[in-house]
Amino acid sequence: MTDAGPSLRGRLKDDVFLRMAMELSRLGTCCRLKVGCVLLRPDGGIASGGYNGALPGMPHCTPETCGPGQRCLHTSHAEENALGFCDGPVGTAYVTDEPCLTCTRALVRRGIRRVVFLRPYASIGDQERVERNAILGHFGVQWVHLSLD
Ligand SMILES: [Zn+2]
Ligand SMILES: [Zn+2]
Repeated sequence: MTDAGPSLRGRLKDDVFLRMAMELSRLGTCCRLKVGCVLLRPDGGIASGGYNGALPGMPHCTPETCGPGQRCLHTSHAEENALGFCDGPVGTAYVTDEPCLTCTRALVRRGIRRVVFLRPYASIGDQERVERNAILGHFGVQWVHLSLD
């Protein structure tokens, strides 16, 4: 029997958890962008999962609230929901889409060390990027853009 080694094993985990985040994103209710998130505890166990959606009982996004090139202000973001569904510290976040500044802050407050995402946040504003990168640098968060085969 061959030992796969930690790096192969780590890549397998990244692949599996990112795909789980993709599955969760199918439940997202924003008409512009459906986002999924899986959170791991610091010990690597699965802590939580979430997707973006309007608050319970509130109407979902419409083309008026969330048109192309418009940022979704209508939903709770996937990361926010996933954090809300678990207690205690988290270590790693797998998200289909690169987190915004607000979600980055929320993740960092819960101790996040590593964020793995599939699609870059292309329309991020300069100021938001500067603020977010300052936080990532300060806390030494690993920010990993991965693509799946
Ligand atoms: Zn929306
Ligand atoms: Zn966000």
